[in-house]
Amino acid sequence: MSCELKIKERTGVINPIFTCQPAGAQYASIGIKDCIGLVHGGQGCVMFVRLLFSQHFKESFELASTSLHEDAAVFGALHRVEQGVDVLLMRYPHVKVIPIITTCATEVIGDDVDGLVLKLNAGLLKEKYADREVHLIPIHTPSFVGSMISGYDVAVKDFVSYFAKKEDKANGKINLITGWVNPGDVTELKSLLSEMQVDATVLFEIETFDSPLMPDGNHVSHGETTIEDLQSTANAIGTIALNRYEGGKAAEFLHNEFDVPAIIGPTPIGIRNTDIFLQNVKKLTGKAIPESLVRKRGIAIDAIADLSHMFLAGKKVAIYGNPDLVIGLAQYCIDLEMQPVLVLLGDDNANYKNDPRIAELKANVDFDMEIVTNADLWDLERRIKEGLQLDLILGNSKGRFVSIDNNVPMLRVSFPVYDRAGHYRYPVVGYAGAIWLAEEMANTIFSDMEYKHHKEWVLGVW
Ligand code: SF4
Repeated sequence: MSCELKIKERTGVINPIFTCQPAGAQYASIGIKDCIGLVHGGQGCVMFVRLLFSQHFKESFELASTSLHEDAAVFGALHRVEQGVDVLLMRYPHVKVIPIITTCATEVIGDDVDGLVLKLNAGLLKEKYADREVHLIPIHTPSFVGSMISGYDVAVKDFVSYFAKKEDKANGKINLITGWVNPGDVTELKSLLSEMQVDATVLFEIETFDSPLMPDGNHVSHGETTIEDLQSTANAIGTIALNRYEGGKAAEFLHNEFDVPAIIGPTPIGIRNTDIFLQNVKKLTGKAIPESLVRKRGIAIDAIADLSHMFLAGKKVAIYGNPDLVIGLAQYCIDLEMQPVLVLLGDDNANYKNDPRIAELKANVDFDMEIVTNADLWDLERRIKEGLQLDLILGNSKGRFVSIDNNVPMLRVSFPVYDRAGHYRYPVVGYAGAIWLAEEMANTIFSDMEYKHHKEWVLGVW
């Protein structure tokens, strides 16, 4: 019985779990109001990312490209950034924030985006847009290192460090850096905080990505985090970054630079981690955890008790996707008496080996468990073909054919989910998320029992 942390030995990637760094920076940028990210690279660096956002949320998002072509690789392409900024400001009078997001190509050719921003601030913005508030923010996300996860982390830190401004008085709020979550998660987090009567600045706030279709026609979705929200992060009574790898750097920055106390993690997936999250909120704010939340917790435990011992116990699970989410899911599965036998982390972040949650798993699991870093979906498929017995897969839609071709039931979680309806609407965090996950895992297993005629009669008598 052991839990091993391994690095994928094979070179190359077959069916990647993640996309590249600029995608993460783009996700952070669409969480800001009056912001359009300008991606300095080929059109595909935006087009395919935007497509994923639209497929996942079934909404439209605004992102721009400097649209590099072959000549740029030889002669440089800073003039495309200059033109891009000018066109965005002309075309969109409301735009105030333009992050300039680099890509593999523009980092390799060495375009000096930081120098260009100084030039544009002193030139174009003064001469042509003197009456506009415009912030140009270079964000370096070369895609030959990291993944969309580190790209998100870098961008969140760059936005926060650009805007955060210390004032004499604390604003009485906590900063909540949610990480790469869904609108349903934000709704649940806000509900927990509101029950505790805690005022929070929810950063890179994407609840509105579940957008209404209003009588005046469709519209483009954007986040709700304002420039003022970002500026006031320096005056908060504390920061909670729910995810170590998606926002942790920004929380550390606010602590180091402005002495704002920082609590990083745990991702509040499952009862145990939600309890810790609420205790952390209490610690920072002094607010009590009300009876209403004790009741919500009790409802979640009751739902779990109905399922765990009878249907979930002993079920072998493979999990892949965003690292904080995946680790949180693995912890929750263990609490539900399940066995997350294979955990795939899709990039090679050197910090995984120092992650205390992984150390805890290594110390405590009583079954054979593999945690593979820099993994791809072939790591999952190969193991199944070689005989790994699985009862369930938890992951994004990229792995759907592993599930379909190998007859292993799969619950879609993480990003992107484009082959199931409305998943972005439901939380995986908080007590509501604990209920949704336990019930959806059970329902997925139930459908599989019926489809395979495997003890399906049990479902009629419990
Ligand atoms: S790998 Fe490079 S070229 Fe491809 S989408 Fe990412 S940044 Fe663009």
